[in-house]
Amino acid sequence: MRRLVLVLGDQLDAQASAFDGFDPAQDAVWMAEVAEESTHITSGQPRIALFLSAMRHFAETLKELGRPLHYTRLDDPDNRGSLAAQLAHDLARLQPRELVLTAPGDWRVLRALQTVAREAGLPLEVRDDRHFYTTVRDFAAHAKGRKSLRMEYFYREQRKRHGVLMEGDQPAGGQWNFDADNRQAFGPQGPGVVPPRSQFAPDAITREVLALVQQRFAAHPGQLDSFAWPVTRAQALQALDDFITQRLPDFGRWQDAIWPGEPWLYHAHLAAALNLKLLNAREVVAAAEAAWRAGRVSIQSAEGFIRQILGWREYVRGIYWTQMPAYLEGNALDATEDLPGWYWDGRTDLACLADAIVQTLQHGYAHHIQRLMVTGLFALMYGVEPKQVHAWYLGVYVDAVE
Ligand SMILES: Cc1cc2nc3c(=O)[nH]c(=O)nc-3n(C[C@H](O)[C@H](O)[C@H](O)COP(=O)(O)OP(=O)(O)OC[C@H]3O[C@@H](n4cnc5c(N)ncnc54)[C@H](O)[C@@H]3O)c2cc1C
Repeated sequence: MRRLVLVLGDQLDAQASAFDGFDPAQDAVWMAEVAEESTHITSGQPRIALFLSAMRHFAETLKELGRPLHYTRLDDPDNRGSLAAQLAHDLARLQPRELVLTAPGDWRVLRALQTVAREAGLPLEVRDDRHFYTTVRDFAAHAKGRKSLRMEYFYREQRKRHGVLMEGDQPAGGQWNFDADNRQAFGPQGPGVVPPRSQFAPDAITREVLALVQQRFAAHPGQLDSFAWPVTRAQALQALDDFITQRLPDFGRWQDAIWPGEPWLYHAHLAAALNLKLLNAREVVAAAEAAWRAGRVSIQSAEGFIRQILGWREYVRGIYWTQMPAYLEGNALDATEDLPGWYWDGRTDLACLADAIVQTLQHGYAHHIQRLMVTGLFALMYGVEPKQVHAWYLGVYVDAVE
């Protein structure tokens, strides 16, 4: 074998950079379901199910494309339990001459795979991830020499550099940021009828995964009875279309609003599909911009939404990669409290926290304001040790990847 292309559970794109130059006659793909990815932090059941189901669907896509695949299932008797151990085991058997990988999102995983490659004496080529507009090098260049980092300045650079929502060299609509027009409250009558979220009934592959997760990860938090996330690219594209037509027109206005018993509101619910790479950030941004240019949504909504992806998503990733591994150890406020146990079951008298946590465990989802202003702000004020907060967020949300 010439080349083994390593595909991680959140790299489910047949057009990923790791596949550039792929030759089915001499190359193969490697994927592995391993327990460690669900246990190194306690991962909730919806999150585990989403990853495994999407991986198994992607394996079917690879087969249809005629790409030779070496896939280890969680319940395979020979499963080695971790990405590193599984890869080391499989390399001895497959004997490729080189390894190729699209840059992973997770520092820990990159280091582990680099170590395996080094110990096996194999070159590992790590290619840029085209699912982000910015490379880590770009972000480091942006950050260099600045006393402090501000998302807004980074975002304006991104708009100009990638020609997003621009009219010549000016921002579309005459402003970079329309937040002052957004951020409305529902008022005492509440949100009224909210468009339903896109739901995808579990097919045979997903049902098999749900049973496996229930059996293998029974002690993990979260429920699976309402599992309806997109697990294929076709479903993710459908979810994108539903969002652009049904919720984006009101996204800006209600972006920061919250209401009891309303988990979905006017948010996109696309982060999981984006982070698994079922959708590309560029196509999501392009769809929102096209809806504005066609007069179907206001500039306030289009800009507010695009900023989340072209701005925040890229910025947070840039911070992570330029500051890891020290970032994980940071504790600027010397916060040392344990995360309250009710973060894992929602049993608290604090109503907005109970609401956010119960729905988080049920769906693996809470919208941004619940994460930031409810569970996040409480943990900050209570003085919870940042590492414990990090592990909770990373475990419970279906879109959580480092
Ligand atoms: C404490 C905390 C933890 C979070 N953890 C995650 C996480 O693990 N994974 C994740 O993708 N997002 C995370 N976010 C960001 C944001 O809350 C989620 O992306 C969003 O709630 C997902 O729902 P949505 O797809 O309906 O997003 P929308 O509210 O509709 O936003 C649109 C898109 O913008 C992107 N986005 C917005 N803000 C951010 C951000 N800060 N970082 C990265 N992408 C962003 C996402 O891709 C999202 O799909 C976190 C935010 C907070 C405050």
